[in-house]
Amino acid sequence: MKTPLLKKLSTMNVRQTLFWFLFTPVLLISLFVGIFLLTTRFHDLDHNLHERVSHITKQVATTSEYAIVFSDQNMMYRILQNALNSDDINGIRLFNSEQKRLAELGKAPSMQDTFFPEKTQLREIDGYLQSISPIYYTSNTPDSVFDINSGLFNPVDQRSLIGWVKIEANTAAIQIDKYQYASLVIFILVLFNTVIILAAFRLATSLTQPIDKLSSALNKLVKGQFSNVKLMTLPPEYASLQKDLLDLTERLENHNEELVSGIEQATEDIRRSMDSMEEKSAQLHIANREAMESNRLKSQFLANISHEVRTPLNAILGYTKTLQKDIEDTQHRLYIDTIEQSTNSLLAIIGDILDFSKIEAGKLSLENNHFNLKALIDDVYQILSINLLTKEKQIDLVPEFSSDTPEWFVGDSTRVRQILTNLIGNAIKFTHQGAVRTKVSLLSSHQQDVTLSFQIIDTGIGIPEQKIHRLFKPFSQVDTSTTRQFGGTGLGLVITKKLVEQMHGKIEVSSAPDIGSTFRFTINLKNSNKNAQSKVPLDFEVALLEPSLTYKNYLDRYLQSIGVHCQSSSDLEQMIAFLNHHRSKLDCLLISTVPGEQGIIETRELVTYATQQFGIPCILMIQPPGKITQYHDLKHLCRDILLKPISHERLYKALQRLNASDPTTTAPQKAISPPYEKLKGLSILAVDDSPINLQLLNHWLTPIGVDITLVYSGRQALDMAESQTFDLIFMDIQMPEMDGMETTQHLRKLPNYQDTPIIALTAHALASEQQQILASGMNAYLSKPIDEELLLHTIEKWCSSTETLQDQIDAKLVNIFDLNKALTIVDGKTDIAKEMFDMLADSLDAEKKLILHHLEKQDTKKLIEVVHRIHGASKYTGTVNIARQAGFLETHLKELGMEDVEGVVDDFIDAIEELLANRQLIPWPALSV
Ligand code: ADP
Repeated sequence: MKTPLLKKLSTMNVRQTLFWFLFTPVLLISLFVGIFLLTTRFHDLDHNLHERVSHITKQVATTSEYAIVFSDQNMMYRILQNALNSDDINGIRLFNSEQKRLAELGKAPSMQDTFFPEKTQLREIDGYLQSISPIYYTSNTPDSVFDINSGLFNPVDQRSLIGWVKIEANTAAIQIDKYQYASLVIFILVLFNTVIILAAFRLATSLTQPIDKLSSALNKLVKGQFSNVKLMTLPPEYASLQKDLLDLTERLENHNEELVSGIEQATEDIRRSMDSMEEKSAQLHIANREAMESNRLKSQFLANISHEVRTPLNAILGYTKTLQKDIEDTQHRLYIDTIEQSTNSLLAIIGDILDFSKIEAGKLSLENNHFNLKALIDDVYQILSINLLTKEKQIDLVPEFSSDTPEWFVGDSTRVRQILTNLIGNAIKFTHQGAVRTKVSLLSSHQQDVTLSFQIIDTGIGIPEQKIHRLFKPFSQVDTSTTRQFGGTGLGLVITKKLVEQMHGKIEVSSAPDIGSTFRFTINLKNSNKNAQSKVPLDFEVALLEPSLTYKNYLDRYLQSIGVHCQSSSDLEQMIAFLNHHRSKLDCLLISTVPGEQGIIETRELVTYATQQFGIPCILMIQPPGKITQYHDLKHLCRDILLKPISHERLYKALQRLNASDPTTTAPQKAISPPYEKLKGLSILAVDDSPINLQLLNHWLTPIGVDITLVYSGRQALDMAESQTFDLIFMDIQMPEMDGMETTQHLRKLPNYQDTPIIALTAHALASEQQQILASGMNAYLSKPIDEELLLHTIEKWCSSTETLQDQIDAKLVNIFDLNKALTIVDGKTDIAKEMFDMLADSLDAEKKLILHHLEKQDTKKLIEVVHRIHGASKYTGTVNIARQAGFLETHLKELGMEDVEGVVDDFIDAIEELLANRQLIPWPALSV
């Protein structure tokens, strides 16, 4: 621990320390000498006074002996007067032996005269020195004592006390002496110490000055003030140090100059490379813009190609469907079915190519429509089963729907179809034997939202565990040799994953080589208010021959659900035994064929036996790769031939056809006639530059009683609209001279056509174009190739009550805008809600540009600011999708910064664009007053 003094010392600078080291001993010595001089001098003064006073007292005692004996007053006073002449004596008194005052002179302090010692004594009282001495009378008597040794008489002194003398001396005089002496000594000490202080200070300064100078020189060296250091002078004894310092300064100065010139050179180099970087960045910018432009052209090209290819496909599919209805011959109907399936596959391929380009451009967006999931999965299986025909493999394709799963949903049916097509297509591609099952179950259902779980389970080649992680990367395939064997682009799973994620779901895979793979995924959809049309129970007795257990269970379950009592057998003997026993009760035999020569022979025998022996109608179910031509002679014997996979709808229709030929049962016939009577008498204008497409519409609509007017250009449509009114208009988009959107804008200006439903018939697949179509004033669009059912359904929707129109709008807005939320926040005040919404929506265009600008500049802080601002505002305006996407983006920016942010920004921008495109569709209630 440091003492306070040490602490103080440690905080002092060198000069102060040195000063105190020099000065402190001198100060101590001078103090000691001073004290010594004072004490000796004071002692001497006191001693002298005591000596003098006691001497005078004794002298007075001796001289006054006889004066007292003889009571001689005069003598007494004379003696006292003599004593009083001394300067120190103030007063003197004589006392007799009875202690009574005999004489007194001078001024004595009034003291009690009680102290009378037998010997001379001195004492100090109240600043006075009192000396008392007894007075003896000595008488020499004749009675001498003889001293034998000396032979002489020694007289004997007889002493008797006769009185006392008291003398008082004042000590004031010596006090003054003491003060004078002390002042002198102190003065000399102060003078001496002052001189010493000055000398010590000067010495300390002269000793520390060079050190200070050196320290300041080093300081300047550090700051690079070399010239100041050179001007510094040190005392001669430091000459060599000064020389060394100068050398050091010069060296440092040279080094510094070299350094500065090096830095200047480097700065110049950096400036030059910055210039060249700027040049390169400008070139890159230009190249980037060119790349973006070429990407845009590519997308445009793809959209055009898709239009060009879809238009003829529209005609092929349309006429195929028409032929399907007209053709009675089962074999020809199968050919037509195959044409339909192949055309659909072609459409799927076009869709895939378009989708990948959209994913690359970040433009993939979802639509909302009502769709039947069960029918959709049936359809996917139908389309994909074509692969079984061409690849010659036997696989059971089985859809399994859990009983609590509804059939109708609102969502992007095209995308759901695409996900399933990719996964089921892969499963079929990589499976040689066994089954590909698709299990669908309901994971959760909360108000409008439903989460579905799908599993696509195959018994194929499987995927090695270490390669599973590669699956969802673009262009990656498990290995190149399988690629060669199986073909494919390696894009399917990437598109699938992106689509699943866009539907707020997840996809995962588990697989074991040579055992099979299971792809599981979930998606979020909305509940639809449509219910599955319950089928009229058929009440048939059917015997089923189905060798595959999986397929047998699947058909069993379905037949039971439509009221068909079914007895199933897995081999021919079992079937024949059953037939012999129950032939009278059976309404039909459902026979699944086993490919191969033997199978064909056995099937032929069974059908002949059942039809000719017992008159029981047979429906044949052919498992690809079996071909209809192999059963050529059976087509007349069988009531129907169905190609596996057997869709619920087709099986139901085939069974119904059995009834149709039976005049006693008419109910099922009624059930299949489409309920489009309402459309009778509607007048519809169809505008398309392609006569084939117009004829197709004519072909579909005229038979059901629709009055259809066909025109070939926008100009003709406007002329026609002025002379006539229509209930609905179908409008092609791409037409020479005046395109569909421009024609619509002109039509909307005509007084009678402000509310007429105008439906676009478009082959344009890009979401941005679809939004443009709606923005031009059209009410909806149908994508080519046009499905007859959908066409009729659309007419019905738009030409019946406004509720259906609202439904459609609601379905469109459901993911974008929540009106209830917007109104609840402002207590139902529409005008405030709309004002708030308009403020946000009006600012979005500028905000979008700002976001892109900050993204380009990679300014995370500013980007977060803008996104945070929109996020905050969007929570109170009902713009649910923007709020959601802004939330994602804000979290991403805060946690991961700019890393991989582009995709998230694109989603956010899409959400903004989607809202702006559909802004006019929001059904604001009448404004509150
Ligand atoms: P591709 O067009 O090549 O099929 P995908 O992205 O659909 O592209 O699939 C990528 C790869 O994943 C396939 O090439 C295949 O190796 C593997 N794969 C996908 N599904 C299966 C499956 N069901 N069984 C085995 N391998 C599969």
